[in-house]
Amino acid sequence: MPLLIVLMALLAFGLSLAAAAAVEGTRRRWRGVPARSGLSGRELATALLRRDGPAGARAEAAEGAERCAWRPGERLLLLRPETRARDLPACAAGVHAAGHALLGRAGRLAALLACLQSGFLWPALAASLLFWPAARLPLALAALAGTAFQVVHLLRVEWPASRRGAESLAGIGVVETPEEDRGFKELLLAESLASLGDAALGAPRRLLRRPAPS
Ligand SMILES: [Zn+2]
Repeated sequence: MPLLIVLMALLAFGLSLAAAAAVEGTRRRWRGVPARSGLSGRELATALLRRDGPAGARAEAAEGAERCAWRPGERLLLLRPETRARDLPACAAGVHAAGHALLGRAGRLAALLACLQSGFLWPALAASLLFWPAARLPLALAALAGTAFQVVHLLRVEWPASRRGAESLAGIGVVETPEEDRGFKELLLAESLASLGDAALGAPRRLLRRPAPS
């Protein structure tokens, strides 16, 4: 039984890893493909908030932000810095973030948990497999519970945010070609998988990231 639980935990890690690879592969495929509207991700998010959000809502790209955050009191949507770009990945990130704001649902707890999973839980489980047999079972159970939470969060918050953003995007009619439509669909799916992927690789990727050139 303990062996089965450890195997299931390794399978859960594989699932998160596959999500991280899908997100990265999709963003890389569309990186540099300009949005035909000419808008940046931030400008597109602002347009969606103006159309469907509360009056006076706006979006800003925040330096160093790892994920978007909606501040309803200030009617301010904070975006990742790369949403200043005018390519499809930046625009899809803006649309997804606007979807979170329009639904009023964020993912702070999921992000915190992803940080804990990727920075501590998976490395500790790997170490326990080699050196620390007594910790294997509790760590594997914690890892399984964490992954289950991320999957529920994906279905209840992340995917609905992408769908709400896509609905609002259809309303402003800036997607002109079938190619661009396909790009947004793939990228919005990737945006909703991002926090599951972060649960495997978020913390190590942050450590390895080079500081942006100033
Ligand atoms: Zn999200």
